[in-house]
Amino acid sequence: MRTVARAHDLRALVDDARAIGSRVGFVPTMGYFHAGHRSLMRAARAENDFVVVSLFVNPLQFGPTEDLSAYPSDLDRDSAAAEAEGVDVLFTPTTEEIYPRPIVTTVHVDGLTNGLCGRSRPTHFDGVTTVVAKLFSMVGPCRAYFGRKDAQQLAVVRRMAEDLDLPVEVIGCPLVREPDGLAMSSRNAYLEPDDRRAAAILSRALHEAAAEVANGERDADSVHRVLTGLIATEPRVQLDYAEVVDAHDLTPVTKITGDVLVAVAANVGRGRLIDNMTVSVGPHSVDVDLGVVARETERV
Ligand code: AMP
Repeated sequence: MRTVARAHDLRALVDDARAIGSRVGFVPTMGYFHAGHRSLMRAARAENDFVVVSLFVNPLQFGPTEDLSAYPSDLDRDSAAAEAEGVDVLFTPTTEEIYPRPIVTTVHVDGLTNGLCGRSRPTHFDGVTTVVAKLFSMVGPCRAYFGRKDAQQLAVVRRMAEDLDLPVEVIGCPLVREPDGLAMSSRNAYLEPDDRRAAAILSRALHEAAAEVANGERDADSVHRVLTGLIATEPRVQLDYAEVVDAHDLTPVTKITGDVLVAVAANVGRGRLIDNMTVSVGPHSVDVDLGVVARETERV
């Protein structure tokens, strides 16, 4: 594995790989790897000849009161994990490399960014799409792997790539969970033991809501009540939102039919946690996608 910090060096390595016919897989991250990140690297490794992982804590996507300065990092551990997953290039730029001068050009995806996390983090998605557009430009034609843990981010990035004709195929990968169901997140490192235990209510509430839908519930308000009622039993978990939306355009639905995203966000201790599931309701079937639990060997 090569580790490079300059965009110029990244471009040269990826151009060389493409010149000999390699298909390029790309995994953008903010580091502090866990099994969720590693599952994206593994998917990229399985489906491509040359794998690039970027590790950049992007200041543009943090609000003024958010946790940018406290965001966890451990470059040595992350390098070892990326190497173990067979990554070819780890791109670790400085902030000056990505933003050499104040940025006056940003990418905004309308509509999809208004609700869910966009409501309480109004500048967040512009920060994400701007840095992802820059990273896509540096890496060039590739398949890019994103986790369904960040379902709104995935929808927003996919739409950006389509609208701007970027030469990137955006691929969504399963949400990876801890054994007690908590969605893996670098931010889980912030949780005190009591908060860590309490945080599991989010996935328990989603499981309960999934069971209601599997039993025939089709009223979004009822599913919403199940979620909020259960989450309210944990005083350490301060709900930001629980929403039932169309999985494609992210607009609220009243009836659960077709592909529906059920998403929650909450503040727990110092951390802001998100979780979700997708239910696909057809005339004769209900499919629930709650993601996967990381195997023992994959937990880091
Ligand atoms: P982050 O480093 O948190 O910005 O995440 C980098 C990528 O990893 C994003 O595509 C995330 O959606 C993905 N990711 C983070 N946590 C998980 C998880 N628990 N399961 C699957 N993908 C994840």
